[in-house]
Amino acid sequence: MSSMDGLGPLGVTGLDGPDWAELLGYDAGHVWHPYAPLPSASPALPVDSAEGVRLRLAGGREVIDAMSSWWAAIWGYRHPALDAAVTGQLQHLAHVMFGGLTHVPAIELARRLASMMPPGLDRVFFADSGSVSVEVALKACLQYQRNLGHAGRGKFLALAGGYHGDTFGAMSVCDPVGGMHHLFASFLPRQVFLPRPPAGEGVDPSWESAARSLAAEHAGDIAAVVAEPVVQGAGGMWLYDPGYVRVLREIADEHGALLVLDEIATGFGRTGPLWACLSAGVSPDIMCVGKALTGGYLSLAAMICTKEVALTVSGGEAGALVHGPTFMANPLACAAALASTGLLLTLDWPRDIARLEAGLREALTPARRLPGVVDVRCHGAIGVVQMDHPVDVSAATAAALALGVWIRPFRDLVYTMPPYICDDDEVAQIGAAVVAAAKAA
Ligand SMILES: *Cc1c(COP(=O)(O)O)cnc(C)c1O
Repeated sequence: MSSMDGLGPLGVTGLDGPDWAELLGYDAGHVWHPYAPLPSASPALPVDSAEGVRLRLAGGREVIDAMSSWWAAIWGYRHPALDAAVTGQLQHLAHVMFGGLTHVPAIELARRLASMMPPGLDRVFFADSGSVSVEVALKACLQYQRNLGHAGRGKFLALAGGYHGDTFGAMSVCDPVGGMHHLFASFLPRQVFLPRPPAGEGVDPSWESAARSLAAEHAGDIAAVVAEPVVQGAGGMWLYDPGYVRVLREIADEHGALLVLDEIATGFGRTGPLWACLSAGVSPDIMCVGKALTGGYLSLAAMICTKEVALTVSGGEAGALVHGPTFMANPLACAAALASTGLLLTLDWPRDIARLEAGLREALTPARRLPGVVDVRCHGAIGVVQMDHPVDVSAATAAALALGVWIRPFRDLVYTMPPYICDDDEVAQIGAAVVAAAKAA
């Protein structure tokens, strides 16, 4: 089949395989990639297939995916349980609208998530991406406050250095500088930001007093406190003490605000415990999950809240949570999520996270002595090398690929969050590749 006729399914392998030269030309000129210009400045790598922890590139080369497809593919690719769940569900129902209709995968996944959540969180809204789940969480907070007679509470208290997604509401609670708020200043709602919690053990008293006074100053305006607990991801791969999450809980309680924890990156075991907030002993009023929810198979996220939040939001003038995506609770995605969470309930992944953390710590140690490296930090199955300059992404990526590993650095960060199923040799290989990338960066 010709790939030029525009009708045949692209990527179908004919006798000679896809015409990658032609496909990549079209890709570079016509297809947006994340945070990229169009036409693109650098060509994307063609992936033919994937299995286990390896991506198979066009031409047959295999490389370890040290990014888990951006936190999502925690079990690697083509996992038999996830493949079976999706193909099995396909025999029943690929999709149906969720307005007025329901189905087994959605109900069972809601029940499953409720059983895995910190205490009190058992009401579930399925969204089609992490950003949308954050939008729904913010909207729920505003409706909650309005229904309690606090319509004036229209702002959120967020952490500098945070990342919560790319839609406008989510973007407004992202770090103002890293999120390039100035580009959208005429449109973007303005929130209140606490300084980023400093690194190191325990809670810095000067941070705490500054945070408490800023919160008090804006108390009457704040609907909720929003944060990624313990690990800030795309805002800078930053680690902070769980004690700060306890302070955020206290601040929210003191001022009648809700606490929204965004565990889209940190959830499902990535930091060690099932949820990062468990390391703080804190339960939020609303949690957002996504990314690894489906083991990286399909786009699905959820906003999960307490009964009190659900009942309050559902009262008032609207009498409903005012949101409803077309592909809400997609059955294929819910089936994948049931399979992935099923693995979390049966496998000894905490042992793997500890093993990955130890392996990454050891393998990344040599990076400390490299020129240009300002910090090396590991937490759970996350390893980060921070440079004193913006990374040369092409050079760093090429250096890692030469050692058989796919990474995707950003800003001043070379980092990895490997699939949980990497064996010790693969972890060492990833570590060596990250060190090589930092050297080339
Ligand atoms: C990725 C991410 C999001 C956004 O999720 P999308 O599925 O990309 O919309 C939100 N919050 C955090 C912490 C994330 O890491």
